[in-house]
Amino acid sequence: MAEPSLVPRLEIKDLRRSFAGRTVVDGVSLQIMPGQVTCLLGPSGCGKSTTLRMIAGVEMQDSGTIHVDGKLICDTVFRIPPERREIGLMFQDFALFPHLSVADNVAFGLHGTKAEKRARVEELLARVDLLRFIDGYPHQLSGGEQQRVALARALAPKPRIMLMDEPFSGLDNRLRDGIRDETLSILKEEDTAVLLVTHEPDEAMRMADEIALMRDGRIVQQGAPYNVYTRPLDRAAVAFFSDAN
Ligand code: ADP
Ligand code: MG
Repeated sequence: MAEPSLVPRLEIKDLRRSFAGRTVVDGVSLQIMPGQVTCLLGPSGCGKSTTLRMIAGVEMQDSGTIHVDGKLICDTVFRIPPERREIGLMFQDFALFPHLSVADNVAFGLHGTKAEKRARVEELLARVDLLRFIDGYPHQLSGGEQQRVALARALAPKPRIMLMDEPFSGLDNRLRDGIRDETLSILKEEDTAVLLVTHEPDEAMRMADEIALMRDGRIVQQGAPYNVYTRPLDRAAVAFFSDAN
């Protein structure tokens, strides 16, 4: 058996970002191992999406570093562009392409021959249990089904890291728990590190191996969900968990 790697898949160190003189990300550091799901949990406006966008490479940090598998991908002078970071993205409003078939949506980021791409698309659609829609179009699918196609699309190129920004908040309450569980089991089959941003404690409790509680641009507490929930470090953390429920 291969030695388990001790190198984090994703490591961010002391990331900072200000807009118009106001600091919104104020020294965030995190490590995520392959196969691990970390939830960045905090109230609206605390800097979660900005943190994610810097990791994705669509926002530039003022300072701090990002390493993937021990390799520097971004500091203040060196920067690998977003499309070469091997990162999968899922956002609430990151919609499918309406004019492309389900198969072409999933194949969007893939390289290789037509046959290779088709094989990977079939594999992914089978994984999310939507193979029967392979030649369908997004408007023929329910919201939950579209979400699963978006997951298949994000996973198709075998990203090293999956960044998910409130991916379930557009979904019907009734469907949400089921889709969270399905998504988690699919993610767990991949050897990818997941950073999931949410303002819902329920979602973090359900999906995270580790929760990083964020407030005012900083991570104020980090640990296993049970520990963060049962032993919040300060009053604001207690209030956040109880208000949100
Ligand atoms: P969250 O995702 O936790 O709700 P964000 O990271 O989206 O928070 O935003 C944090 C703060 O930074 C907010 O006050 C937001 O208005 C501000 N902000 C985010 N992006 C920009 C931008 N491009 N220009 C100016 N302010 C921004
Ligand atoms: Mg946000």
